[in-house]
Amino acid sequence: MATDNNTSHVVFKKEFTQQEAIPRTGIDRAIALMENGRLHRYNTIGDEISEVALLEKEYAEYVHAKYCAAFSSCGSAIYVALKSVGVTHGDAVLCNAFTLAPVPGAIENAGGHPVLVEITDNFVTDLQDLEQKAVASQARFLLLSHMRGHIVDMHAVTALCARLGITLVEDCAHTAGCRWDGQFTGTFGKAGCFSTQTYKHMNSGEGGLLVSDDDEIIAQAILYSGSYMLYDRHIARPPLEVFERFKQKIPNFSLRMSNLQAALVRPQLADLDRQCERWNARYDYLAQALGDIGQLRIPHRDAREQYVGSSMQFTLKNVTTTQAQTFLQRCGERGVQIKWFGAKEPVGFTSSWENWQYIRDSQKLPRTRKILDFMCDFRIPLTFSLDDCAVIARVIRQVAAQTFGRHSNTQT
Ligand SMILES: *Cc1c(COP(=O)(O)O)cnc(C)c1O
Repeated sequence: MATDNNTSHVVFKKEFTQQEAIPRTGIDRAIALMENGRLHRYNTIGDEISEVALLEKEYAEYVHAKYCAAFSSCGSAIYVALKSVGVTHGDAVLCNAFTLAPVPGAIENAGGHPVLVEITDNFVTDLQDLEQKAVASQARFLLLSHMRGHIVDMHAVTALCARLGITLVEDCAHTAGCRWDGQFTGTFGKAGCFSTQTYKHMNSGEGGLLVSDDDEIIAQAILYSGSYMLYDRHIARPPLEVFERFKQKIPNFSLRMSNLQAALVRPQLADLDRQCERWNARYDYLAQALGDIGQLRIPHRDAREQYVGSSMQFTLKNVTTTQAQTFLQRCGERGVQIKWFGAKEPVGFTSSWENWQYIRDSQKLPRTRKILDFMCDFRIPLTFSLDDCAVIARVIRQVAAQTFGRHSNTQT
């Protein structure tokens, strides 16, 4: 067996981008749909209920929300959520700076302008900075992004929003199946948006789900999604008279989900809790195995955060930028492809706010910059077994010892 200081180099061979197969029942349903050709969500016969409508109902039930509307992506669901809660041209929208490019993109698309908020060492929104920026900007909206599945104290967020008269929308692209203190993410504010894009917790290639308890918000969202006045075929919706008030005022943005996507997601939803347990077995194993490396800081997770560890982030501490780059390069050479938020040029899914130059004024976020400069990130697809995680941990431990010196860990 290899130990941390000998020269036998374990190399990891699996792909960090390889997700599991779609469940057989999903494939069978998708084939049946292709055979009957009724792929459009409103292409139903008689009193048939479409796959998309069923998914909306099941998802609302899963998160204990009243309503749900499906979209072509989470980014489009967020953009519609912002419009439906009343964001109009020129409105300031608070948002944590550590997020993914579609999030400021959705604010821009809704006509808003992002006011970026710092994060803490635990990769969640800095609530003190949030309050300061809220007061200074007079923003009436907060788009809180649970980036990479890190959930901030939601009781504190909702209290702050109530105190300052701020409307909360949650970006839950990475938190399907997650809760804060027993309550599902996405249900703390006026609307919550989830993703069924390939790299999230349920995979239909692309797709988004918007949940809300508010009659007017969901009615507008359904109309924006492009319901062609066929909203009566939704089964996770408010009474029809609510639509009457909006139906001639809301543009059709044509952002629907297709039955094919919904057919793939429904069996994955039925299995989501079990999948989340499998993710956490892998995450918790890795956090344990890497936890004692002196130069790695794995974020502390609050006991109320019921997270889903589908990816792992840590910061390198007390190392130089050159050492950090060497560490990442050596891990990469041994098959452990770790992404880095410190790069100057946007790479893949790891761009940072300096790369979103359409944002009106350049915003200085020194604390977030310092954290991102040493933040490492990798996915934990469920195609990785616990044995695979052991190999990944061993590679990281060996490379850390080699790069940062023998004090990097207390045991091997
Ligand atoms: C993936 C992601 C999105 C966007 O989801 P899409 O379905 O790809 O539009 C938004 N926010 C976060 C944090 C994400 O990870």
